Amino acid sequence: MCLVKTVVPHILNADCNTVGMSFPALPRGKGSEDALERRSIIEQTLGLKLRHVASQSFEADTASKNIENFIGISQVPLGVVGPLRVKGTQAKGEFYVPMATTEGALLATVNRGCSVVTSAGGATCRILKDEMTRAPVLRVDGIEHGIKVIEWVKRNMDRLKKEAAKTTSHGELLSATPFLAGRNLFIRFSFGTGDAMGMNMATIASQRMCDLIEKKTGAITISVSGNMCTDKKAAAINYLYGRGKSVVAEVNIPERMVEEKLHAKSSEIAETATRKNLVGSAMSLSMGFNSHFANMAAALFIATGQDAAQVVEASMGITLAETIGEGLYFSVTIPALEVGTVGGGTGLPTQREALEMMGCYGKGKSSKFAEVAAALILAGELSTLAAQAKGELASAHRRLAR
Ligand code: NAP
Repeated sequence: MCLVKTVVPHILNADCNTVGMSFPALPRGKGSEDALERRSIIEQTLGLKLRHVASQSFEADTASKNIENFIGISQVPLGVVGPLRVKGTQAKGEFYVPMATTEGALLATVNRGCSVVTSAGGATCRILKDEMTRAPVLRVDGIEHGIKVIEWVKRNMDRLKKEAAKTTSHGELLSATPFLAGRNLFIRFSFGTGDAMGMNMATIASQRMCDLIEKKTGAITISVSGNMCTDKKAAAINYLYGRGKSVVAEVNIPERMVEEKLHAKSSEIAETATRKNLVGSAMSLSMGFNSHFANMAAALFIATGQDAAQVVEASMGITLAETIGEGLYFSVTIPALEVGTVGGGTGLPTQREALEMMGCYGKGKSSKFAEVAAALILAGELSTLAAQAKGELASAHRRLAR
């Protein structure tokens, strides 16, 4: 049965120029038949066959909360690194960690880091803070009105907490930090969000609180997201105050192991970390005082159904290396690791399987997952810095990725 209702068959001209062509409108529905119809229209309009996009192991309905205008699956190669030994408060023991990427050489280098971290006894990981933020911007009449609104918010925190709780059973308003600039009042709300990354939760609760603040103070909500949140944009506020999970990880590696497994001396790795991660990042006014947090974060986020755009925040942080006694002390500090083990894309079939590989799917697992993520980032940083200390970065990519 042909499901295509409105099809104008076209064959694109050789340079894919579409000037003068009129494309059929696509159906909007969320069901499998709508997905098939959209794909058929595209195939016929463009004269293509989307064979791989159509190769899916689940129906459109499964992803109905994750995407609109579904047409199939974008497959990203999935690999695994490990075993990686983690000494967290929740993540204890060894893990195989899934990573989805198209960057050749990435898993090879992270895997080497995992081997060193595990041989050295594991990465100690701790979560220092766990809060998701949303910062609406409200228009006030001027400074005096702005200060009155701030005072009202301070006096009515309990009431605001109750208002937020009406929208979620797992989310909890923890604090509200005001910032006033002329007639613009930003209130940075912080929430505990259970095992969810929490962005929908925080946004819905913030809107509800803004409605109350408007009614009681006369301030006007301009946007529930006023960019001091700060979501999906590099921002010092996240670096300083944290967003999502603020995580640290460290490992001590004996000198013999550093030289045998990483082919570099501790002093060479420490010097490279200082000149590259600290001085280089200061010279470029970067907020990423690290080698490549974003690589491990992106591959882990894609594999496990995290919001990939939040790699922006996860890319910030600092990697430190120093020689201590007969060995290397190595650490990472990640102020804004925004991850969850329920909600978002975590329940999609392959993403769920990837979380299950680490025993990190679902309720009560988000801290464990964040600790594994921190250890993974540590392992990737260690191996790459060692490679750069020995001038091996280009040769590894030439050998493995070209
Ligand atoms: P969500 O999937 O929207 O909400 C999580 C759901 O899981 C809630 O219904 C919550 O119930 C429920 N839940 C069950 N057990 C839970 C537990 N143990 N801990 C926490 N929640 C539990 O996920 P979200 O994390 O709030 O938002 C993530 C999504 O937001 C991603 O898809 C992301 O791409 C998207 N996003 C949205 C915005 C935005 O502005 N809205 C911005 C960036 C990203 P209760 O509600 O009863 O607590």
